[in-house]
Amino acid sequence: MEAPLGMPLDEPMAFTPQREEQCQADGSLRKYEQNFKLSGVKKDIEKLYEAVPQLGNLFKIKDKIGEGTFSSVYLATAQLQVGAEEKIALKHLIPTSHPVRIAAELQCLTVAGGQDNVMGVKYCFRKNDHVVIAMPYLEHESFLDILNSLSFQEVREYMFNLFRALKRIHQFGIVHRDVKPSNFLYNRRLKKYALVDFGLAQGTYDTKIELLKFVQSETQQESCSQNKSHVITGNKISLSNPAVPKEVVQQPTTKTTVKRPYTNAQIQIKQGKDGKEGSVGLSVQRSVFGERNFNIHSSISHESPAVKLLKQSKTVDGLSKKLATKKKAVSTKGMNSGVMRKTASSCPATLTCDCYATDKVCSICLSRRQQVAPRAGTPGFRAPEVLTKCPNQTTAIDMWSAGVIFLSLLSGRYPFYKASDDLTALAQIMTIRGSKETVQAAKTFGKSILCSKEVPAQDLRTLCEKLRGLDSNTPKLTNEIQRPALHETDYSEKTGHKASHFTETPEEQRSENSLYKGDSNGCSRGDFDECTASLDGWDKVPDEAYDLLDKLLDLNPASRITAEQALLHPFFKDMYL
Ligand code: ADP
Ligand code: MG
Ligand code: ZN
Repeated sequence: MEAPLGMPLDEPMAFTPQREEQCQADGSLRKYEQNFKLSGVKKDIEKLYEAVPQLGNLFKIKDKIGEGTFSSVYLATAQLQVGAEEKIALKHLIPTSHPVRIAAELQCLTVAGGQDNVMGVKYCFRKNDHVVIAMPYLEHESFLDILNSLSFQEVREYMFNLFRALKRIHQFGIVHRDVKPSNFLYNRRLKKYALVDFGLAQGTYDTKIELLKFVQSETQQESCSQNKSHVITGNKISLSNPAVPKEVVQQPTTKTTVKRPYTNAQIQIKQGKDGKEGSVGLSVQRSVFGERNFNIHSSISHESPAVKLLKQSKTVDGLSKKLATKKKAVSTKGMNSGVMRKTASSCPATLTCDCYATDKVCSICLSRRQQVAPRAGTPGFRAPEVLTKCPNQTTAIDMWSAGVIFLSLLSGRYPFYKASDDLTALAQIMTIRGSKETVQAAKTFGKSILCSKEVPAQDLRTLCEKLRGLDSNTPKLTNEIQRPALHETDYSEKTGHKASHFTETPEEQRSENSLYKGDSNGCSRGDFDECTASLDGWDKVPDEAYDLLDKLLDLNPASRITAEQALLHPFFKDMYL
């Protein structure tokens, strides 16, 4: 869970042990927990000052505002120039990150950032393994908190500004690969936006970000190791890829049966990276899809489309092999990656490096071992070509993710797809976009998918209006306590395809967020009905919105709308850059 923003740390925050009775008293427990958390944050801040002492000369670190597997982000103030204090976000990257990965993230920010809603960078600090990126701080709302209080016009502005950022980075040949609300900061009051987190970015073949050329070859290696043949028999889901180059896979090339513990382990790793978001989704239970449903019960109930990914078609195999060789050649020439990999295991950890304070990455740093963890985006936001491990992924994958955000905005559900693995995510996409359509599209990028059950594509307007509780067939808000969008048990036990569950998703799902607490539009629990009646434009969503959504969620990356085209879409008529 992300820490609340701007929590004042000037107050005494020493951890004082309290007696049990006190803790049980109303309010005390929360205070106790708060103190406990604050003391943890305080310790982290102290450690950061220790690790990178030069920070102490410039910044007063106030709070921790984000924590993931690969970084922690802090709010700091700086007296950079005479006058007012400036708020700064300090992103402390985990020391095990590969130096090239770090340098590439920084290069994305410095080259493409600083304009068009792309976060810029002010400074970067390093001491030994510790790297801290200092960025302008943009105070922002939590997506989940504001989702159901956004007016339709705000949603238009939000999407428009997201496309501006995506157009900008795509022009530089950056594929962000992790486009999701927590990486697109939104300050409602200031109407400011910022795309952050290039920690997973990759370059297009013609990228203008030099270091991304190197990251790409690294990913090639990563995707090869991920592509190892595995079959999850219990789920009737199988994956196989005979096209994996022999030199990469040291395991037997025959299919290996993978049991659930393996899958569970994978889930745990992925949740680490996105734990903050996952926990939000779990606590509110508003996601349209629940993880358990597909994964555990699918093979028993036969109600979900058991997805079977078959090997790549031969033509694509050839092509991907060619691509892989090409990339290899480029990277070897450019950055000597061959050497890097060979020396990776033999490099003594104690070697001091000589690239400090230069703009180069020295051979010692290049030889450092890479973090072994799946640095992949969030399954729920991943495009079908990513989920099926299509080797040549383009900027179109970010457009799909933007489409999933738009789907959340139009339906009022977040996260929309909640899956901890790729095949579950793919099955969930099928229930919205249709199984035949998905299979058909996958063919265009050289993947064949076998699907045991056919599910029809849904009309996007009907779907979103049902989920918002706007269609006439859905009962309006009552005072009853309502069930979440998809009751997990329901979901697995009922017969009939998943789409039928959408009809059971009334608008009461808008629980626990700012709409009830009173928001900027003046809505509060009392006048909820009035608010939904006027609906801030939600009662007359134009067809253009769903047309744009359809073009973003185009299963075929080759025909999917680009950021540049999206900005010119009729949905944004009367909005200008
Ligand atoms: P990670 O790779 O750990 O996800 P991010 O760069 O996405 O790191 O940062 C994590 C969180 O920190 C963001 O979701 C956001 O809440 C906060 N954050 C990051 N950069 C800034 C910034 N410049 N201003 C304000 N908050 C930020
Ligand atoms: Mg992030
Ligand atoms: Zn170095």
